[in-house]
Amino acid sequence: MDAKTLAIHAGYDKDSQLTMAVPLYQTTAFEFKSTEHGADLFALRDLGNIYTRLSNPTTDILEKRFAEVEGGHAAIATASGMSAIFYAIANVCEPGDNVVVADKLYGGTYNQFTHTLKRFGIEVRFFDTFNVESAEESIDDKTKAIFFESITNPSIDIIDVEGIVNIAKKYEILTMVDNTVATPYLFRPFDWGIDISIHSTSKYTTGQGLAMGGIIVERNGLNEFLKSNPRYEHFNKPDMSYHGLVYTDLDFPAFCLRTRLGLMRDLGAVPAPFNSWLLIQGLETLGLRMKAHSESTLKIAKFLSQNENVSETKYPLLEGDKNYDNAVKYLKGGASGLISFDVGSFDKAKSVIDKLEIFSLVTNIGDTKSIVTHSASTTHQQLSEEDLLACGVTPGLIRLSVGLEEVDDLINDLEQALA
Ligand code: PLP
Repeated sequence: MDAKTLAIHAGYDKDSQLTMAVPLYQTTAFEFKSTEHGADLFALRDLGNIYTRLSNPTTDILEKRFAEVEGGHAAIATASGMSAIFYAIANVCEPGDNVVVADKLYGGTYNQFTHTLKRFGIEVRFFDTFNVESAEESIDDKTKAIFFESITNPSIDIIDVEGIVNIAKKYEILTMVDNTVATPYLFRPFDWGIDISIHSTSKYTTGQGLAMGGIIVERNGLNEFLKSNPRYEHFNKPDMSYHGLVYTDLDFPAFCLRTRLGLMRDLGAVPAPFNSWLLIQGLETLGLRMKAHSESTLKIAKFLSQNENVSETKYPLLEGDKNYDNAVKYLKGGASGLISFDVGSFDKAKSVIDKLEIFSLVTNIGDTKSIVTHSASTTHQQLSEEDLLACGVTPGLIRLSVGLEEVDDLINDLEQALA
């Protein structure tokens, strides 16, 4: 079935439940039928809900539906994109391990990787996004994952996915992609052999800026990859924190199960059921929205690239963009709603932004409402001029997250602000 159909029906049996809308289970706990039933649930002899920190029926529908939309085996939803990223890494790393990471990254992820993971004894080794072969130099027997973003935020670059997957296969290392900006509609991670897909669902999935959330999706067949793989022995050895359970001995998706039974149980960055419910509503229209975001953004890219007051426009599907070939190869149906352009100076950027009427000045992306961001004066304010340039942030750089307003209105707004 097509992802658009799955997004509306997967994971919920409306015929047995007799409600068209997915029910909201706004509860912390679930009653056991008997002491034996409770004991069976805790021992995994019976599957069911115990407490919302471990699972919740509304969140369960979101997880099943998202996994099917992306073509994965299973998913676990988290309270935010940042917690999803942390859980994915913490699920495979112990102190002394390392992760090899493409250097063009969302700033929050960069901070988590360089500061917080370090405090837990996990080393992050960066490689050049535009030279994926260089990743190989950082790999050793303590490397537990190769991590990258499919469309990078904020730099809007597209990495050579095939090159990365080939290196990972050679060393039998897990690949993890942050697929937030592309969403399952524009980039299909599992078709390219990626093992784990991670999203901030606070962006395009919720779609209207309504709810924070994150999700980790694992591919089909991952248990066979993890089984007996010496890099991932904790999936193959008894987990003493859970009655000596060996994850790969079970007939369940081991990556998500271990995240749930260990990290979610002990750290608890669980989504509120109401947020899961909102995210389900968002997921139903995600395909339509991604098409519209992408079409409008390409139109705006063409307009900006011809405007005399714009010195550079960056959009992967704009002919001549350095990411064009990778965008055509890896993205299907568009390149999402992020675009950046340079107006030459800090002062000019400030003046353009202040004149915009429809675009809101916000540090977020993926909303139906169009957003403008000036990295040099906000998110990247603390960086030196040299560091700004290394991140690709020039003083005159303006980033847009193109929303779903009529595109001609957005172009008119940009035209008057640039004049
Ligand atoms: N990954 C990407 C690509 C993002 O853009 C963001 C947030 O902007 C995150 C992860 C973090 O997600 P959240 O804000 O839901 O924690």
